[in-house]
Amino acid sequence: MTEPTNPQLRPMPEDWRRALAVVAHPDDLEYGCSAAVAVWTDAGREVAYVLATRGEAGIDTVPPSACGALREREQRASAAVVGVSTVEFLDHADGVVTYGPDLRRDIAAAIRRHRPELVITLNHRDTWGGVAWNTPDHVAVGRATLDAAGDAGNRWIFPELTDQGLEPWNGVRWVAVAGSSTPTHAVDATAGLDRAIASLLEHRTYIEALTDEAPETYARNFLTGVARSAGERYGGRPAVAFELFPR
Ligand SMILES: [Zn+2]
Repeated sequence: MTEPTNPQLRPMPEDWRRALAVVAHPDDLEYGCSAAVAVWTDAGREVAYVLATRGEAGIDTVPPSACGALREREQRASAAVVGVSTVEFLDHADGVVTYGPDLRRDIAAAIRRHRPELVITLNHRDTWGGVAWNTPDHVAVGRATLDAAGDAGNRWIFPELTDQGLEPWNGVRWVAVAGSSTPTHAVDATAGLDRAIASLLEHRTYIEALTDEAPETYARNFLTGVARSAGERYGGRPAVAFELFPR
């Protein structure tokens, strides 16, 4: 028997209470998986966001000195739409986030503070599939997050964290990567899709600089297209897909 080339995705695990999403930029979660976040917070789960940067290099027409605060405001508003009230920034420099011990330590510290069972991040691979090249910040933060899930549980890797009162947390059971071209699992996004669109629309300054399309049309078309495509492998329902790394 040959393996099907497009196997059905499996349901995401549901036996968890706290998730921590760690991504590079404001808007990464809104493009990547906020419909799933809305479904999870509806069910009473806690989700917190940690962003490595403020996305200050993300808008050509706005200099970084003004852009960071603007994008932080838009990010907090977009998180609120899907039931997330905790949004933290690690203040790495947008566009030149460097994979290495400093980034791993900052993410491990966040994992120890929040003690999640599920960690979410964005595509850490070189491409989005095919020849669609990923950005260096996504690759660095995604990889560092996968690594930090282990670092957070080891008291000897970053002993300075324990000195700061952040005890090891070895309770991360999965890291789920959104935007992967090789997903394994999915969440039915039906109930969260409209809020995901509203959530992406909170990044209005960014979207208006990005496209001539009406922001509402742009956000709806983008997110429904991605959800429909994932749904082809999830029983035909709109879905958010993840590549799941169990620990
Ligand atoms: Zn990004």
